[in-house]
Amino acid sequence: MYPPKCGVCGLIGQPGLCPKCKNNFTVLPTQRAPLAPLASLHAPYLYDGEAGTAIQNLKFRRITSLATPMSEIILEYAQKHLDGKYDVIIPVPIARTRKSERGFNQAELLCLAFPPDLVRPGYLKRTPYTKPQVNLDRKARLTNLQGAFITVDLPLGAKVLLIDDVITTGGTAIACGEALMAGGAGEVHLLTFASQPLS
Ligand SMILES: [Zn+2]
Repeated sequence: MYPPKCGVCGLIGQPGLCPKCKNNFTVLPTQRAPLAPLASLHAPYLYDGEAGTAIQNLKFRRITSLATPMSEIILEYAQKHLDGKYDVIIPVPIARTRKSERGFNQAELLCLAFPPDLVRPGYLKRTPYTKPQVNLDRKARLTNLQGAFITVDLPLGAKVLLIDDVITTGGTAIACGEALMAGGAGEVHLLTFASQPLS
């Protein structure tokens, strides 16, 4: 990444994310209602415009210089709105094959700014047999995700803040929440960088 440039608009001399792009992110007007078993759902931004581009550039164009500024935004949001509600941060796991293709899990990158001792990706694992979601309808997607996640050594009663890049239908987050609650979590909150508009 040289010369340093904004990961969204490409402005030279601006490493990570330039102030103009950050100011253009659309603040999510109203937070989504909780989706059981998730106690609350949070996202600073709407998944469109520059915020959508930031997510896509991080994930698909692998512009990892966006990880630090995006994770700082997530941290700041958590400090402001979720203070005291979590004692463990868990990024939503992605399929092992996808992680090896991409080289990273974007949800893990979004946890970078949190204190490292709070971030515990090992507590939630993806089981190996889940089919890709892309060609399935909504009902098939939710069924497909049952049993897709398992917990490993999760402390009983843990207050979990689950982190992901974007929430669309919420199917993945619900499946994670179910696995975490079954694994002994006390409560699970979801924080994503952006939320798809509710239709
Ligand atoms: Zn920019």
